[in-house]
Amino acid sequence: MGIKVAKFGGSSLADAEQFRRVRSIVMMDEDRRYIIPSAPGKRHSSDHKITDLLYLCHEHAQKGIPFGEIFELISTRYLKIVEELGLSLDLRPILEDIREKVLGGYSVEYTASRGEYLNGLILSEFLGYEFVDPAEMILFTESGVYDSKRTLEAVEKTLAKIENAVIPGFYGSRPDGGIQTFSRGGSDITGAIIAQGIKADLYENWTDVSGFMMADPRVVKNPKPIKEITYRELRELAYMGANVLHEDSVFPVRQAGIPINIKNTNEPEAEGTLIVPNGGDFSRSGMITGIAGKKGFTVITIEKAMMNTELGFGRRLLSIIESRGISFEHMPSGIDSISLVISDNQLNEKLDGIIEEINQQLKPDAVDVHDNMALIATVGQGMARTPGISGRLFSALGSEDINVRMIAQGSGEMNIIIGVENDDFERAIEAIYYAFVN
Ligand code: ADP
Ligand code: ASP
Ligand code: MG
Repeated sequence: MGIKVAKFGGSSLADAEQFRRVRSIVMMDEDRRYIIPSAPGKRHSSDHKITDLLYLCHEHAQKGIPFGEIFELISTRYLKIVEELGLSLDLRPILEDIREKVLGGYSVEYTASRGEYLNGLILSEFLGYEFVDPAEMILFTESGVYDSKRTLEAVEKTLAKIENAVIPGFYGSRPDGGIQTFSRGGSDITGAIIAQGIKADLYENWTDVSGFMMADPRVVKNPKPIKEITYRELRELAYMGANVLHEDSVFPVRQAGIPINIKNTNEPEAEGTLIVPNGGDFSRSGMITGIAGKKGFTVITIEKAMMNTELGFGRRLLSIIESRGISFEHMPSGIDSISLVISDNQLNEKLDGIIEEINQQLKPDAVDVHDNMALIATVGQGMARTPGISGRLFSALGSEDINVRMIAQGSGEMNIIIGVENDDFERAIEAIYYAFVN
């Protein structure tokens, strides 16, 4: 007997039918003692995610625009689930209380968190498991930074006395009592933290795909599933856009050496992907493990003859973006040039000011700005020891006529990152995929 923590994502809990599947999965294995639900996701491609609707309600409330109709969509979704499951839970007064609080100016974090809170109440009654509010256990500092030490103590202490519990994902609280959420997709993090705190034997992450695939199934048709992958490889892929699992959910379980199993709620018998501390499937050296990417980057390239002899050049450049609260993704450099790759959502309207200050402070020969860039990472633990991988990768891109604007290699030689035009993104991923898989 061991302890399993099982997190179920939005599509796994999108309607009553999905709740039934979840219950049968939970009941199949008595080790599944702590269950982490997300808010209801999409039931079909044109449907809404409850969390998106909640953000929308808050935005309307802030602008003084009525949001009753949107809130009605939310209420109807939950009430229908409760009714179809035949539960006695009366959600109406709870929904009304939430609506009033949003109207009365409660925070965006509070508003967004109610999606998980409500789903947790429903799932708790449906499974007959105790409801534990993560506001009591998942703790943040005053400034909203996750506080691992206090959280782990609280999780251990609270759950030691509870045999089976439902703990909503995505949020916790600050010392002032205010609700704090993780970033989008953050229920994965809650599950990982609970697994760490309770010293689980396995963290199961139940979603709508039968594991981690070698590439995003929305880009490559029927990509090969990955049977086993290391935390490090997974973190690289997740960070670079393979959002099956939130990138920050790796740390808690990795520290505790707890494997993660990604499973499909709609195909529970499929093995899924196992994420392990070390090793992975080394027999596949010579193969890549996976490909992931993100659109929306800008590259600023600064050219200046002899910049390599100018003491403090790099530091002054970085302090220009630092003073604006911006971090960079990559910094490829040559002898007389240096580039900064920055995500557009960090850059916002700050670009002009940055260029102006670079010109003033660093007196470069030229500054070139290239926007609409996408980054693609090809990841594999076995790559470092295999000659010819990059040759294969670049010739595949070349024969598809895809212009590579930037190349970076991680120091662990576990990944090759390239920059291409946003418009070439999907084609580039396909080209790389078929260069290694046939
Ligand atoms: P959940 O709501 O269960 O948390 P998400 O939508 O966050 O699920 O994550 C699952 C989705 O991730 C899949 O439906 C798929 O579209 C997408 N995805 C992106 N990259 C990959 C990949 N490499 N392998 C599998 N799925 C991927
Ligand atoms: N419901 C939240 C979101 O949509 C958290 C999650 O699904 O993990 O981002
Ligand atoms: Mg998710």
